[in-house]
Amino acid sequence: MKPVLMCREVSVDFDGFHALQGVNLEVYPHEVRFLIGPNGAGKTTLLDVICGKTRACSGKVLFYSHDITKMPEHKIVRLGIARKFQSPSIFHQLTVWENMELALKQDRGLFAVLRAKLSQEERDAIITLLQRIQLFDYAGQKAGSLSHGQKQWLEIGMQLIQFPQLLLLDEPVAGMSETERERTGELIHEIARNCAVVIVEHDMDFVRRFSKQVTVMHEGKVLCEGTMEDIQRNEKVIEVYLGR
Ligand code: ADP
Repeated sequence: MKPVLMCREVSVDFDGFHALQGVNLEVYPHEVRFLIGPNGAGKTTLLDVICGKTRACSGKVLFYSHDITKMPEHKIVRLGIARKFQSPSIFHQLTVWENMELALKQDRGLFAVLRAKLSQEERDAIITLLQRIQLFDYAGQKAGSLSHGQKQWLEIGMQLIQFPQLLLLDEPVAGMSETERERTGELIHEIARNCAVVIVEHDMDFVRRFSKQVTVMHEGKVLCEGTMEDIQRNEKVIEVYLGR
C-alpha cells in the first residue's frame, strides 16, 4: 500500500534554531497517527510544514506521489489535505448549516457564496456529515450557541465537507468533557474509513484509549514509533517524559 503522506528528512530552522531535524514520517490510508512529545518537540511545526504554513529548509513532503514541499497552502488544501487548528474558527453568528455551506463553497468566490444554491448532492453531503458529527438537530442553531465540543465537531465537519484524503488535527479534545472526548475518539476512527488522520495530542489518556500507531517527537526529531504499549516500555521515552 502506498503511503498517503511521506516526510523525508524534513528540517525547519527558525533564525538558526532547529525546530525540526531530519524528520521522517509515513502515514498510510485509513491510519490514525498520533504525534506526541513534550512541549517544543516540533509537533505543531511538523503539521505546519505538511499543510504548507511553514516551509521546510530541507527534505521533502510527498502527498501520494505529489511533491508538496514548496506548494502554497491553498493548493495543498485543493489536493486534499485539511488542517483543523486548536481553537475553532467557525462563524458564531451564522447557523451550523450556514457554516457547513460556507465551507463547501469556500473555493468558489464571493458571488457563489452569496447567491449560488446548493445542488441536491451537496445538500445530502452536508446532511450526512451533520449526522456523523451529531449536529443534524442543531442545523438551524447559531454556531455560537454550541458547546465547546460541538464547535470542535462542527469545524471537523467543515474540513470533511471538502472530502480530504488527509486530516491534520491539533489537540482536538482539549477542554472537552469526558463524553465529548469519547465521541471525538469514535468520530476520528469513523473518519479514518475514508481519510488518514494525523493528530497532535497531549492528553495521554485519550492517546492510550484511541491510538494504534504513535510517533514520539523530542527536540525536533522522531524519538520512536509504535503502539502505545511499545512506547511506554521504550527507555528513551521514559527518559524524556520522566527525566530519568
Ligand atoms: P510542539 O508543538 O511540539 O510543542 P512546536 O512545533 O510548536 O512544538 O515548536 C518547536 C520549537 O520551535 C519550539 O521551541 C518553538 O518555540 C519553536 N518555534 C515554533 N514556531 C516558531 C517561530 N515561528 N519562530 C521561532 N521559533 C518557533
